Amino acid sequence: MYDDFIRFVREVYQTDELIPLHEPRFQGREKEYLIDAIDSTFVSSVGKYVDRFEKDCAEYTGAKYAVATVNGTAALHTALMLVGVKRDEEVITQALTFIATCNAIHYCGAEPIFVDVDRATLGLSPQALQDYLDEFAEERNGETWNKQTGKRIAACLPMHTFGHPADMDRIVQICEKYHIPLVEDAAEALGSTLNNQHCGTFGRVGVLSFNGNKIMTTGGGGMILTDDETLAKQAKHLTTTAKQPHSWQFIHDQVGFNYRMPNLNAALGVAQLECVSLFLEKKRKLAARYIAWGQQNGVQCLIEPKTACSNYWLNAVMLEDMSERDAFLKATNQQGVMTRPIWEPMHQLSMYRQCQKGNLANTEWAAERVVNIPSSVI
Ligand SMILES: *Cc1c(COP(=O)(O)O)cnc(C)c1O
Repeated sequence: MYDDFIRFVREVYQTDELIPLHEPRFQGREKEYLIDAIDSTFVSSVGKYVDRFEKDCAEYTGAKYAVATVNGTAALHTALMLVGVKRDEEVITQALTFIATCNAIHYCGAEPIFVDVDRATLGLSPQALQDYLDEFAEERNGETWNKQTGKRIAACLPMHTFGHPADMDRIVQICEKYHIPLVEDAAEALGSTLNNQHCGTFGRVGVLSFNGNKIMTTGGGGMILTDDETLAKQAKHLTTTAKQPHSWQFIHDQVGFNYRMPNLNAALGVAQLECVSLFLEKKRKLAARYIAWGQQNGVQCLIEPKTACSNYWLNAVMLEDMSERDAFLKATNQQGVMTRPIWEPMHQLSMYRQCQKGNLANTEWAAERVVNIPSSVI
């Protein structure tokens, strides 16, 4: 099976050289816009491309407002602050995610609570969320508190794994019922929709990433999405050192952050976003080829949920068990076909081992089996 897989991937990518997991594609107007930004001398924290990229992202996702940041992690940190997450509070998230989700919670001085993922989506499981709240939630003055720790549950932060939308309908319902602000880590999900609604627009605030390995890139970059005008203004203020507008004076009215996206990166972003529908189309074709190969060879691929349209950012296979996974990883990587296991679950990392958690059976099941396979746009 391994040799057949390697042969298949080489045929797909038409190369005998190293096949990376995911590399960016620059086939649009990237150079033109970058040169324009350089010629304008506005390469840094102000410039027309930042405004344009924000406008384009809002339009593309259907969010009313979009605020660009230096990276997705900074966007997540800001998003959590915007919904009011503070020191010694708690944020419910999934144990199976990229470390940035968890770190952003920590930057607020808050603690993550890990609940399980769905096997089908690898996103936050509504059932696991409900189970945790059934057991530990207590209402106080219209807010949800944790009976066990006496701390406020300040937000819920689901993540759309590999671009496959989590079950947002039910997650939204639960968060509304408990008055828990919902923030979406849609870092991997640009172009993914659920019932024709773009990921990152289901909660009060959503976050995108444009890191080099994502479906489109600005080099480094992120975006805060929201429909709330007040939050959008605060987002801009917080990410630009909380400086009050003034022609020459430096007046800062709170401790802000230098999280603004530079104009150079935004220039790249405008050009990349123009190519996103082409990327999506090609990724869908690639996923279909992997799925067909998997069906012929008895290997299960992760597929989009029924009511969703995934961006298929990273394709993934689910192997029989850990020993098969390790043999697959070894064979493919040794032969120049880059594959990577899914993340080590957060509750198993030294700095988050002490955190509260629900039953994490699906997380542990997936962590032993899921492997990402080459997914660059061809
Ligand atoms: C990429 C990513 C982020 C943000 O990453 P940055 O590199 O800071 O842009 C956050 N969460 C998830 C799940 C991601 O995959």
